[in-house]
Amino acid sequence: MKNFYPDYYFDDIYSATPEMFLERGIKGIIFDIDNTLAPYEEELPNDKICKYLSALDKAGFRIAFVSNNHKERVEKFNIFGYYADYDAGKPSRRAISRAMLHLGTTPENTAFCGDQIFTDIYAGKRLGLFCVLVKPIKDKKTLFFKAKRMLEKPILNSYLKKRRG
Ligand SMILES: [Mg+2]
Repeated sequence: MKNFYPDYYFDDIYSATPEMFLERGIKGIIFDIDNTLAPYEEELPNDKICKYLSALDKAGFRIAFVSNNHKERVEKFNIFGYYADYDAGKPSRRAISRAMLHLGTTPENTAFCGDQIFTDIYAGKRLGLFCVLVKPIKDKKTLFFKAKRMLEKPILNSYLKKRRG
């Protein structure tokens, strides 16, 4: 069960501040894209996200994107020129390990931020990364997504209960 629990759960990515990462000794931050940094239909990062990432950049963090979405989506979004991997197949750990290699970081000083427990958090936790879960910006209305969120719910509830207790 502990591999499904994030270290932090926030309403949005902006709550994951440079100070918070610094306190945890983080040097590299790997981000999921869809619903973590931008809704599916936004091809480019908005101003707020650009400012957020540039603040992390300036604070000295090494940044990467690891997305299960396709090449075109990821490359178009990555106007920053960060290391970015697509078709990552999360919860497979492979793409995240590869991103750490590129960043020159280790599981002890790398954070992973995503919106899905069964792909993002599960992959990150099994590698021993510091994991931040955020509320999805805007879910697709498909049955598949609704089902996924429904399955996440009991885990999220037990995590929140544990956090309170
Ligand atoms: Mg996502």
